[in-house]
Amino acid sequence: MQQKNMHLKDHQAANLISCPSCGNDEDFFEVAENVIITTHYLQNPDGSFTPEEDSSQILGPVRLICGECEEDLTAFHQRFTEMLF
Ligand SMILES: [Zn+2]
Repeated sequence: MQQKNMHLKDHQAANLISCPSCGNDEDFFEVAENVIITTHYLQNPDGSFTPEEDSSQILGPVRLICGECEEDLTAFHQRFTEMLF
C-alpha cells in the first residue's frame, strides 16, 4: 500500500499529460496530416526492387490525440515533443 502511494507521488512530480475528458495518461496518438513519403529504390538485375532509403516530410499540422477517447490534445503537443526521448 505504501509503495502504491509512492508511485502516485512520482506521477504528480513528473507532471504527466493526462486527457481532461477521460483521465488517460498512458496512450496517445500523434497524427500528421499531408505527409509526403519519398522512397529511393534500386532495381536489381532480376527486375526486383530494393528500398535504399526513405524520407518523410510533414506539410500539414501535427495533432496529439487521446488513445482512449480520441479527444484532441494538441494543446499538449508542445510539451509532448519536449518529453520525447
Ligand atoms: Zn481521453
